[in-house]
Amino acid sequence: MNKDLAIYIHIPFCINKCYYCDFISFDNKDELISNYIDSLCNEILSYSDILSECNITSIYIGGGTPSYIDSKYISKILSILNLFVTNNDIEKTIEINPNSITLDKIKDYISNGINRFSIGLQSTHDEVLKLIGRSHNYNDFLNTLKILKECNVSNISLDLIYPLPNLNLSLLDKSIDSILDLSKENNIKHISVYNLEVHENTKLHFLLKENFLNLVSEDEEYEMKNLINSKLEDNNFNRYEISNYAIKGYESKHNLNYWKQGMYLGFGVAASSFFNNTRYTNTNDINKYIDFNLNNNSSISIKEEVIDLDDYDIIKENIILALRLKEGINIQEFNNKFKIDILKQFKNEIDKCIHKGLLEIENNIILRLTNKGFDFANIVWQEFV
Ligand code: SF4
Repeated sequence: MNKDLAIYIHIPFCINKCYYCDFISFDNKDELISNYIDSLCNEILSYSDILSECNITSIYIGGGTPSYIDSKYISKILSILNLFVTNNDIEKTIEINPNSITLDKIKDYISNGINRFSIGLQSTHDEVLKLIGRSHNYNDFLNTLKILKECNVSNISLDLIYPLPNLNLSLLDKSIDSILDLSKENNIKHISVYNLEVHENTKLHFLLKENFLNLVSEDEEYEMKNLINSKLEDNNFNRYEISNYAIKGYESKHNLNYWKQGMYLGFGVAASSFFNNTRYTNTNDINKYIDFNLNNNSSISIKEEVIDLDDYDIIKENIILALRLKEGINIQEFNNKFKIDILKQFKNEIDKCIHKGLLEIENNIILRLTNKGFDFANIVWQEFV
């Protein structure tokens, strides 16, 4: 039987570098775009044998800002991937930025099979967007929704971040209300809400350290988390994963595959893969990546951080990934799959987390995070690593 496989494509180009960004993305390498796309296509084609044998279940084009580059490049990538896709109804997502979208681009994406759009909104407040170095404003977002509506797009996801400089509880409250107001009319079916991470090498880190900007206290941050959770859940956005909310049936299939420990191949600079129990990440050196894939420079390797997971690693990782989901772990299915008794083998870890109110066992059938566990999942992961 063909193995299921998800595909991730990394487009590392952006209009400018957001102040909090720690991703592999470049705002000063546009001259490499054409060679990069050719390299990426070569990398995909070098996996032709595997792609022909597998059943591709989802495609996700992320970045960076995929919508920043000319849509002809996205068409080129998709025309190659589509050669290996046997089911045209699979989820195909592209990340878009509100100020890099045109009607023609969206039409191009759709004609190549894209059926899900993930908008990097982050905040609805222009002042907040400015303070984190985003290149768009709220009006750009409204315009993007208008274009998507004109193209009859039925599956839209938004990314939000909290806490952010100058974002207080009352502004956040208004933000969520505006999004919920827009959601029904505009087919917003999925909302990812990420907790801001301040990385040392970023401009935001500097601005916070030097007190040019401030964030709310931990208590207020916790109130924000509760506000987001209650407002979204009250409006049918089910928190199906720690940071993700969806209208029933619109959970991200691509991300569900990650959390269910399915196989995936990532193409592009810094893209990660998990295939036949091996994890690896491509180099984050774009010149090296291009040299390897475009010039066939076989004297270098672009695969880094290659880790072969043994059975025990797989089991532990499976627990951590599956617990991210509200549905948790079906104990019997887990035991049958891995031929262990999870409640015996991880008794100490599970007991400790239950004692702290972070894990619960429902009717001896399901092991899952509690509501508190959803908010303090890191403590649970520490027990299982
Ligand atoms: S758009 Fe995304 S990838 Fe690009 S700089 Fe901003 S946060 Fe980073």
